[in-house]
Amino acid sequence: MSNQEWNDAWGTLRFDNRFTRELPADRDESNSTRQVYQACYSRVMPKQVARPTLVAHSHEVAEQLGFVPDLVQSQQFADVFAGNALHPAMDPFAMCYGGHQFGNWAGQLGDGRAINLCEIVDRNGQHQTLQLKGAGPTPYSRFADGLAVLRSSVREFLCSEAMYHLGVPTTRALSLVLTGDSVTRDMFYDGNPKQEPGAIVCRVAPSFVRLGSFQIFASRDDESTLRQLAEFTIRNDFPHLGEPSPEVYAAFFAEVCQRTAELMIHWMRVGFVHGVMNTDNLSVLGLTIDYGPYGWLEDYDPGWTPNTTDAQGRRYRYGSQPQVAQWNLAQFAGALLPLVDHDIDSLQAGLQLYVDTFDDGWHTMMSAKLGLDKFRGDDDVQLFADLFDVLQMVETDMTLFYRRLADVPCETEPESVCERLADVYYQPEQIDDSVQNATTQWYQRYQQRVLQSGVSDAKRRERMNRINPLYVLRNYLAQLAIDRSDQGDHSGVTELLDVLRQPYQEQPGREKYAEKRPEWARHRAGCSMLSCSS
Ligand code: AMP
Ligand code: MG
Repeated sequence: MSNQEWNDAWGTLRFDNRFTRELPADRDESNSTRQVYQACYSRVMPKQVARPTLVAHSHEVAEQLGFVPDLVQSQQFADVFAGNALHPAMDPFAMCYGGHQFGNWAGQLGDGRAINLCEIVDRNGQHQTLQLKGAGPTPYSRFADGLAVLRSSVREFLCSEAMYHLGVPTTRALSLVLTGDSVTRDMFYDGNPKQEPGAIVCRVAPSFVRLGSFQIFASRDDESTLRQLAEFTIRNDFPHLGEPSPEVYAAFFAEVCQRTAELMIHWMRVGFVHGVMNTDNLSVLGLTIDYGPYGWLEDYDPGWTPNTTDAQGRRYRYGSQPQVAQWNLAQFAGALLPLVDHDIDSLQAGLQLYVDTFDDGWHTMMSAKLGLDKFRGDDDVQLFADLFDVLQMVETDMTLFYRRLADVPCETEPESVCERLADVYYQPEQIDDSVQNATTQWYQRYQQRVLQSGVSDAKRRERMNRINPLYVLRNYLAQLAIDRSDQGDHSGVTELLDVLRQPYQEQPGREKYAEKRPEWARHRAGCSMLSCSS
């Protein structure tokens, strides 16, 4: 296609590739697995695939980027977002980064299967990077193939958009395409590889820079590239902090800490478990990034992790996420030391801000989840702690618990509260006298606290339902959509996406999407346990 033809169809988009224009590139342009030094990225072409087919897209993201609906439906769109065609303004590259994986420094990682196509200035004047996940090998692919399969791509596509609609900071997903090629995966690492349909998600974010993007240069004593990346990031993504200087780098670190604390509060609020919180999977913008073996809490269990690869140590279990984020930020601080003239104290302030932001945010969030007027100190801390004990006595669906609690009128007999909440329990036969008593006692105190707040039942319900989602991407719901997609019926993905667009709103006729996990899904692969194989 000629430039003119591209312009006719894609003229509504504004390309502006800052990353490749301003940062140092790998001088080696061959696509071979290697260590890449003194460069933030390597130019690399997506792999050609057999038969690109668009399976789903987010019309909100398309619109924000400036795509007109006809273009989205065209074969050309599927071709571009499968990696088969390239707009002349695109300059594809894979990013170099490192990271701590499961607590150990892992050296160079990098975009092993992500290829950034371009940056687009969106309707709000914000730069957005468009990145294909699963578009073939790059210099960072190490021993793997650079590809992605349909099941993991559906999971990434749906969860990115679900998080956005929940109000949780996240990378977005523009499109999900099938490549027409098959990909071999050993889903359980048990020596039984299978052929699966290959797929590619186009992810979108103002920046895909991670904590590990800085760590790699610090680990190599490459202060020059470290500084270039830091200057670039501050000028483009944190311009309000001013011109780069040691003080500004400390302020930058503090802001990353603050955003990460806010992100953790959101994850805890909605019951999201990331599953692989390595430092290469934490964004400097405080976005949820890299949807792999993530999961959603069903019964309230702080020790739960969906990631079978982490089943032993459960480092990344739900209840540990805030501490893990803090640990990751401390590693990030280490990487920034050369930029603040090794003034550790200046970074310590950021770590303290993390703790303070998290504590404050946690109290505010928990008060809001319970529909209280505001956080009132130690008594409330005790009320929250006792609630978590009660929730763990029997298998209790976290999402439904808060929604049903909102429906219970304040003057309800405390003894009848278990009955009022009946459908939040996975195994009603577990509700014995001790559970009854503990729940009743907790509810009595809650009742008093609500009375003290002076909020009406209606007001409380409205408040609670604004912060406690009814529809989340339950693990089994995603799996049911995947099962249908594997059979060639992608309508489950589109329908689920549509439900998740309004997670706080009751949607008549869609009650089945708000139900707790059915028994058949308790131990089914994909529903309760996931490996990193994707
Ligand atoms: P993750 O923990 O999934 O974020 O991945 C850790 C590292 O492995 C990153 O550098 C990824 O790019 C790389 N990686 C994961 N899967 C693949 C794959 N199929 N091919 C190449 N690299 C991969
Ligand atoms: Mg990753």
